[in-house]
Amino acid sequence: MAQLSDDCFAFNGPLLPIGEAENLIGARIAPVEGREAVALRDALGRVLAENIVAPINVPPFDNSAVDGYAVRGDDLAFDGEKRFCIVDRVTAGRAAMRALGAGEAIRIFTGAPMPPAADTVFMQEDCRLEGDHVVVPAGLRAGANRRLAGEDMQAGAVALPAGRRLSARDVALAAALGLTTLVVHRRVRIALFSTGDEIVEPGTALPRAALYDSNRYLLAGLIARFGAAVTDLGILRDDPKELGRALAAAAADHDLVLTSGGVSAGEADHVRSAVESIGRLVFWRLAVKPGRPVAMGVISGGAANGAAFVGLPGNPVAVFVTFVRVVRPLLLRLAGASPEPLVAMPVRAAFSYKKRAGRREYVRVALRKAEDGILEACKYEQDGAGVLTSLTETDGLAELGEEVTRIEPGATIGFLAYASLVG
Ligand code: AMP
Ligand code: MG
Repeated sequence: MAQLSDDCFAFNGPLLPIGEAENLIGARIAPVEGREAVALRDALGRVLAENIVAPINVPPFDNSAVDGYAVRGDDLAFDGEKRFCIVDRVTAGRAAMRALGAGEAIRIFTGAPMPPAADTVFMQEDCRLEGDHVVVPAGLRAGANRRLAGEDMQAGAVALPAGRRLSARDVALAAALGLTTLVVHRRVRIALFSTGDEIVEPGTALPRAALYDSNRYLLAGLIARFGAAVTDLGILRDDPKELGRALAAAAADHDLVLTSGGVSAGEADHVRSAVESIGRLVFWRLAVKPGRPVAMGVISGGAANGAAFVGLPGNPVAVFVTFVRVVRPLLLRLAGASPEPLVAMPVRAAFSYKKRAGRREYVRVALRKAEDGILEACKYEQDGAGVLTSLTETDGLAELGEEVTRIEPGATIGFLAYASLVG
């Protein structure tokens, strides 16, 4: 399970660059053991434990890509127009009654098997009917509008590799191969807590100086998209003993214990010391804004190898950003999935921004089409790490690299769409 070393980045030590945090996750976290067979309809988001080798060709037979008239490639050498005699008709799911002779055509529909000896299909839009003959124009190349057996997937080829986190598209390919069950890694089990004396559950009264818990709902929703099983363990008070007990108990039967809040340098921030008392801590002051305090380590807690631990910051936007950059790769790794690097798309900045070199910053932006048709990123005005509307009123994150110190309108910046971050 989790295998982190004792490396400790001192609380006030250097900020760890995100790239190094991701490398550490890759090097120190091992995938969970255990696999199971799941039905196709339950496979979404699960991670393949073995290669899927295609048992059949897709498509299984040569067929027509269009509605039209099937002919022999040998009959295509003519100028102007040519008349073919229509000798048969074949629809999808049926087979032609006879082979095609020279100068003959067979009426054919999309998906119907190519008649023997036919290799080319004229689209019906290009044809003219004259009684039981069809008149076609010159210029079509042999093999046009025909789909070959196995052109999509050849029997015996690897259709989907071990480590693939299954999308609806992947499940569709498995279905096209006729498979009914897939062998996947068991689900990663995650224990989820919020922390903070001021945090209360929606549905209860809101005392003075309290606020409703949003982080657990944010994190549970994000995790669900990764095929993991979440145990929602509620809200923990800022009490080192209570924290220690709850984290140790959770570590006994989970692969990852995930918390938010209580990891910064405040006097009531006890998560770090609680983890230190029951496990080993790799403490990352991550070079990222928002989200600098992020704790990571291993809790012994009773399970054979211990559970991984990640303590995210308290502010919801920092939670989101650090989920994307720390929890997401860690989750993929625990789940046995191949890494899925995030690709920032280039868009044009419609704002100016100053930042410090040496840390990566994530600015919440909405996209709009400028007058010249180019996509522009507009920065959400309130950019505090606690401003949830900066996540709900925007389309994604502008990722400003460590080396950047200044953005002016018109600059090309990297854009990570929310849709690409979580699914
Ligand atoms: P902390 O790191 O615990 O000091 O938290 C930083 C900020 O995030 C504080 O303003 C907290 O009130 C806020 N916060 C912590 N946990 C949550 C939560 N679960 N939902 C919403 N806000 C939170
Ligand atoms: Mg707190």
